[in-house]
Amino acid sequence: NNKKEEIVEVMVHEIVALLLPQARLKNVDIKWKRQDNHCVYCDRSQIKQVLINIVKNAIEAMDEKGTIQILISATDVKLEIAIIDDGPGIPEEIIHKLGEPFFTTKKSGTGLGLMITNQILEKHDGKLEIEQNTNRGSTFKIILPLPNE
Ligand code: ADP
Ligand code: MG
Repeated sequence: NNKKEEIVEVMVHEIVALLLPQARLKNVDIKWKRQDNHCVYCDRSQIKQVLINIVKNAIEAMDEKGTIQILISATDVKLEIAIIDDGPGIPEEIIHKLGEPFFTTKKSGTGLGLMITNQILEKHDGKLEIEQNTNRGSTFKIILPLPNE
């Protein structure tokens, strides 16, 4: 067990720095404003892997230029990291298949990213929520429990 108290904003900052060059090459911008310091009890390399999986998918989904927005919010009991893209969105008929092992719509995809994401989040008593945006694109919400008190 490698779980420790970690600051979510630090992990998000690190993965944005890691993926921004790749995004820029595709004319994709990543918008994120560091506002707070939220502490979660987690395995930092695993939660960073989750963030990388979701943000990478958003970059890859974009067919032309686009924007990815990352919003962090919290209630008393849970933390939410929303990754919002303005890409093509997810076709209705495949949305229930996301996270199935080896399900991919990409030529050279593995179809393992969301499965691993779900496994990691489950081990953290968290979950992933996937939504279609009303206008364009989709939103992936990483939900993690917050330490009570
Ligand atoms: P892979 O990236 O190897 O295809 P994933 O498990 O990461 O595997 O994703 C599975 C599928 O989910 C992708 O092939 C794609 O069809 C869909 N998907 C994931 N994220 C997005 C997104 N932001 N926009 C549209 N489709 C997405
Ligand atoms: Mg992927």
